[in-house]
Amino acid sequence: MTDSASTLRGSCFCKAVSYSVSGPPARSNYCHCSLCQRMHGSPFVHSIHYSASQLQWTHAEPHTNHIQRFQTPSKPWKYRVRCKQCGVMVAGQNTKTDRVNVFAAQMERDEDGKVRGWKTIQPKYHIFYDTRLMDVNDGLPKWSGYAEQSTLLFSG
Ligand SMILES: [Zn+2]
Ligand SMILES: [Zn+2]
Repeated sequence: MTDSASTLRGSCFCKAVSYSVSGPPARSNYCHCSLCQRMHGSPFVHSIHYSASQLQWTHAEPHTNHIQRFQTPSKPWKYRVRCKQCGVMVAGQNTKTDRVNVFAAQMERDEDGKVRGWKTIQPKYHIFYDTRLMDVNDGLPKWSGYAEQSTLLFSG
């Protein structure tokens, strides 16, 4: 199977839920917000945002039989999508902006273990760096909140 750089694939832990994303992402960043930290149990998350129409489920139909949607109580327009079988969160959905986000850590790897299409999805900056659990010295810009809408804490 060939894999063009414009279509990338990902899946949950057990692979019962899988997806493809097409075209360039709307944004790609590392998020250090406390919501991501709690939901993922991780200091920060590489999140890649697309228009909802860019994401296609690729697992067995009917697609909704395999996924479970959870509303975020503090932000009811935001949903998390989980695999019913392994319980892993595979995507986020924002019904206000009609965007979805997926996670680089769950995307398909090449023979060397590198994420395919990395150039397309590589993060451009860190957001919510104020609530970080660790410093990251990777030379990328770091915003206190959302990019361009908060304080630029480090320019690189
Ligand atoms: Zn699964
Ligand atoms: Zn976040």
